[in-house]
Amino acid sequence: MHLLCYYYLCGTKKKLNNIPMQILKHPDTFLRQTTQEVEIPLSEENNIILDNMIKIMYQSNGIGLAANQVGYNRRMFVMDTSNKKDSPQVFINPIVTSKNNKKMKDIEGCLSCPGEEVKVSRSISINLEWKCRHGKLQHKTFYYLPCRVVQHEMDHINGKLITDHGPILKRE
Ligand SMILES: [Zn+2]
Repeated sequence: MHLLCYYYLCGTKKKLNNIPMQILKHPDTFLRQTTQEVEIPLSEENNIILDNMIKIMYQSNGIGLAANQVGYNRRMFVMDTSNKKDSPQVFINPIVTSKNNKKMKDIEGCLSCPGEEVKVSRSISINLEWKCRHGKLQHKTFYYLPCRVVQHEMDHINGKLITDHGPILKRE
């Protein structure tokens, strides 16, 4: 049985919140594996994984985190680009339905590539479809920073990293 299920079935809520979750780092091959569509309605396990992903994203000062970065090859990611870090968003089974052909380059970092920076060319707007935690279909056009983060996280769930986009500008 999966460790997480074990905790859920046998543990208390307190134990649940303390599931150890670790950010996988490049060149871990798990980051390159195919990710699976997430079943709707969302399982208790996936709900717990998402809560933990949000927690880890904040702890790591990240603005986005994909499930396969913490060891779950599932098509879901979390994001919070707000200044106050109080608006976590959850994206399940996201699909980019269209992309602006106009692109812009900017420097990106990644929690799975610590200390590295790469100049990445991204579409200036994208249309995304996804399911929310309640299984409802959502769609939105993203611009600016959220647009970049969504494309970065879509790369993750498609097994791609910033280092695939160009040379590493900085290494700590
Ligand atoms: Zn990343």
